[in-house]
Amino acid sequence: MSDSDHQHGIEGEPQHNPHAFKPDPSEQKVPPPSRPHEYSEKTYRSGQSVYDEPDILPGRSREPVHRDWSCTHCGANLRGMPLETPCRECGRRNWYGPPPAGVDSYESWLKRLAGDAAPGRGTVVALACALIGGLFAVVSSLMGTSPGGIMSVNMPMLAIVFGPVVEETMKVAAASYVVEERPYLFTRRSQVMLSAVGAALMFAVLENLLYLFVYSKNPSTNLMLWRWTVCVALHVGCTAIVASGLADVWQRAMHEYRRPRISDLFPSLLTGIAIHGAYNAAVIGLEWKYPSFFR
Ligand SMILES: [Zn+2]
Repeated sequence: MSDSDHQHGIEGEPQHNPHAFKPDPSEQKVPPPSRPHEYSEKTYRSGQSVYDEPDILPGRSREPVHRDWSCTHCGANLRGMPLETPCRECGRRNWYGPPPAGVDSYESWLKRLAGDAAPGRGTVVALACALIGGLFAVVSSLMGTSPGGIMSVNMPMLAIVFGPVVEETMKVAAASYVVEERPYLFTRRSQVMLSAVGAALMFAVLENLLYLFVYSKNPSTNLMLWRWTVCVALHVGCTAIVASGLADVWQRAMHEYRRPRISDLFPSLLTGIAIHGAYNAAVIGLEWKYPSFFR
């Protein structure tokens, strides 16, 4: 048996060693890193990240909110209330307060970029969103319905569920991106509405052209009239509901100078999808009852 074999036996373990055990210094515990919640208003360093503001500070818990600041849970205005106390409307606590005055924050970032706006920029961005959103919706709805695609398996399922989900989401996709990442590009609520409703109008027109001139070889006057009135109104109407939710998200961000919360769009998006799906279900019934009208 060689010496190297002995090193791996139990006689080599520390408890059999007559000398005091010396731990490897590289395995020493390191001191814990300072965590964001250990920052106080005095040690706050600006420019860390505007997306991760350390506004949960131990010294601020009773500091009153000096400006409009909506409750994260119910939207009530917390102005005048001390931070971290239960909301007067819903009773839940708000941990996020406005950043301390005079520091680099999302607020200063947003104010700086909003101040640089060239005249007409918001309208140009809104029209671009309308164009892109309309094309997005057409392309994604075509991709989803192509033969062999997962959504083309069951026609009523496609019309009632997948179609409305894809179309309503994609119509507001470009506008949602701007609201979430570049909210300062819009200067008025009407521009947010235009960017989404314009996409719906664009989608409705492109879809009608496809249906009336590509899918249907010789459409009846009734079908033409139906598509250019009812279908256009449905697309614009459903998206107007989603757009008003998106405008609310934008308005909260611009009014309170805090990051837009795109998840607040969910209730209005779901409403738009549900109405669109219900309409499609009703049309399936009408087509079955009056087949000659829809040719
Ligand atoms: Zn509340």
